[in-house]
Amino acid sequence: MLIDTQSDFAAGWRCAISRNGEHSMMIGTTLGLDTIRGKLKWIRRQFSQHALILLYHRIDDADCDPWQLSVTPEHFEQHLEVLRARLRVMPFCDLPEALRRGELRKGAAVITFDDGYADNLVTAKPLLAKYELPATVFVTTGAIASGQEFWWDELARVLLTPGTLPDTLCLIDDGSAHQWPLGQDSCYSMAQFEDHRHWRGWKSGPTLRHSAYRAIWEWMRSMDERRRNAVRGQLRHWGVGAQPRSPSRRPLTSEELMRLPERGLVDIGNHTLTHPQLSKLRLSEQQEEVLRSQRDLESLLARPVTIFTYPYGDFTPETMDVVRRAGITAAGTTTRALVRKNTDPLCLPRVHVPNIDGERFATFLQEHLL
Ligand SMILES: [Zn+2]
Repeated sequence: MLIDTQSDFAAGWRCAISRNGEHSMMIGTTLGLDTIRGKLKWIRRQFSQHALILLYHRIDDADCDPWQLSVTPEHFEQHLEVLRARLRVMPFCDLPEALRRGELRKGAAVITFDDGYADNLVTAKPLLAKYELPATVFVTTGAIASGQEFWWDELARVLLTPGTLPDTLCLIDDGSAHQWPLGQDSCYSMAQFEDHRHWRGWKSGPTLRHSAYRAIWEWMRSMDERRRNAVRGQLRHWGVGAQPRSPSRRPLTSEELMRLPERGLVDIGNHTLTHPQLSKLRLSEQQEEVLRSQRDLESLLARPVTIFTYPYGDFTPETMDVVRRAGITAAGTTTRALVRKNTDPLCLPRVHVPNIDGERFATFLQEHLL
């Protein structure tokens, strides 16, 4: 999961753009094939000595997606068509060597997934195989071991899907009570859910439920695993009347994780043990998060795992030292930029991909190469 800057991703392609005084167009209009070809040709020129790392999370038809983590299978396949036709998709693990040798390939792009959702195996992998494109899945190993849905999905399911909650939500954290009044929004109908299903977490809440969701999300994000699990237990009590857990919205199992790299197209990387905000942790806790998940993965896969992504794109220079000492050779952030010749391999920028069709994806690539 990434941090709080997705609003720009969604807004970007809806804006008129003008670059170098010669290229101006309105994104979102119906574009002809020649226009797309022209844009793709322009994209290839811009890729010289650059690499663009794409960041996905889920490939699924999400009914509730406040952080825009899902791309539909249909759109993902269209993205792969564009990438396959026009760019050179390389594995994430090859980036450190390419940077060291100053040999980023012209038109380089990298496909990554964060968190370790089961749909990465069930839905994304067959499409990657169809187009013969490599990708890397960065896994939060604690979620695989527990089998629980990710905490942000559980929170969204309880608060943002139809059902009835108390008039005032009360959560106890380390003996202190925290309350969020819901008033008339304690009852949330299917019609209301349909009205607000496209709400995004970075926008103001249209109901008290959405405001509470955002506040509790921020609160839980800053917690350690022990406190968060205690709060999750209380959430489950509320969530009895909420929509049932989606069978597809779950982490990979250990067995599924081991199937991901079969046939060689999909690589596995480390995304910590519990998906914390690393910058909020003491040094020893950061080491524990990085090293324990690395050990878990290496034990399951029976080989070294030397690539990593920072949860929420959150890290400090101290975190980078922890990662370096763990033997990590490449680490991805959520900074929206291109990888360039002088980019630090432990600070590789990545661009989050929204749920857009292939035509808009071609434009999206162009926008992020400027
Ligand atoms: Zn994540």
